Amino acid sequence: MFGKLPPSLMIGLQNMRFRETMKLAAKTPFYSSEFERRKIDTRKIKYPHQLGDFYTTGDHLLRYGPDGFIAGRPDTAFETTGTTSELPKRVFFSQRELDEMGRISALGLYQIGLRRNDVVVSAFDVSFWVSPAVVRTALQYLGCFHVEAGKILPLEFYERAKRYKPTVIFGEPSWLVRFSEIASMKGTWPVKFLFAGGENLAEETRNEIERIWDASYYLNYGQTESFGVIGVECSEKTGYHRNDLNFLFEVVDADRDGQGELVYTTLTRNVMPLIRYRSNDITSLIDEPCRCGLFAKRIAKITGRCDEMIVCGMGNIGPWVFSEILRDITAATDEWQVRVWHEGFRDVVELRVEINVLNNGETAQTVVESAKSNMRDRFPDFWKNFEMQLYDFRVVAVPRLSLRTARKLKRLVALDSPPTDANDEISGSDSHSLAKIIL
Ligand SMILES: [Zn+2]
Repeated sequence: MFGKLPPSLMIGLQNMRFRETMKLAAKTPFYSSEFERRKIDTRKIKYPHQLGDFYTTGDHLLRYGPDGFIAGRPDTAFETTGTTSELPKRVFFSQRELDEMGRISALGLYQIGLRRNDVVVSAFDVSFWVSPAVVRTALQYLGCFHVEAGKILPLEFYERAKRYKPTVIFGEPSWLVRFSEIASMKGTWPVKFLFAGGENLAEETRNEIERIWDASYYLNYGQTESFGVIGVECSEKTGYHRNDLNFLFEVVDADRDGQGELVYTTLTRNVMPLIRYRSNDITSLIDEPCRCGLFAKRIAKITGRCDEMIVCGMGNIGPWVFSEILRDITAATDEWQVRVWHEGFRDVVELRVEINVLNNGETAQTVVESAKSNMRDRFPDFWKNFEMQLYDFRVVAVPRLSLRTARKLKRLVALDSPPTDANDEISGSDSHSLAKIIL
């Protein structure tokens, strides 16, 4: 994605690869039945937009499973980390595809300064997640020293990693925040850059971490479905230089500013090729040259998700997560709302729930405690992030009929700044709060 390919050659290469991908996809159960149903003659399709309103969605991946999409023999599989649905999506790949993505990642990492004499320690979560595998392959190409720590407690990572004096550190954004907080208290060492993937990042947080380490902090953008690398930042940090050799990108349903949903077609995958896959991420394509001088065009910073999912220190959270946290709590009603904001140095996730008149000795405090213990039992990953202090989790019991302001209750609300009515958790032993609840 970083080579200097004449634009006409790039377009020619993309067109050729697109037609090959169409041919391959047409043999899979999902695409063959969809193309037949829609009377699409794949031999006549030369460009993605000729497919009209046909797209592949995450829902298709879940409903048909990998079997519906497999066109070649897989060697490995990874799963999505997003939690808009209860089940993770499974995506299958070959070793050749892993090597290809590793090679592209190596080029991206080289561009931001990674060299053979660097020492890398990674805190990427290895559990079912594609990124650590892609990073490991990339680092093999670059030939640098590399230690895989996994996503462990930031303090433990700090104590153990510092003995290697890593010059480059990989981690998820919210984890890097906590880790950097610890480093600001206990001391830093010379670092070339920090590198994050898997979540979005507030620029103020990036600035703070760069100040602590006196080093650059770069983001990668990718999805499990895309097999990691869709694009990577350069020194300018003005969008992700996109991987046009391996994907055809479109932005659909765009508004007047060109902001719409990113849709991509894989061009070099033959185990599970994806045609016009809806990423669910809102962004725009930037075709103007970047000040860094790189040839590859860009994808702008992601501005949001198409559904109600929020990416924050807790993880990728969707409405169903909180329904599950409140399940079995008899005093909790189905009227609840989650607000997420950034306060100080970390995210706050506040679950506000309207509660029934309390009886059977249940107090508001019981609701709060039950919600937390349900999260611990039902979502170990979110609980782990909470214990690592990657975010604050608050459960607030609120009076009946206080949340719904429109016909539909918006379940997840991202706030730009802390709300003026932010509450501490309401305790059942606090008679004033209790009175407020029963109103
Ligand atoms: Zn650039």
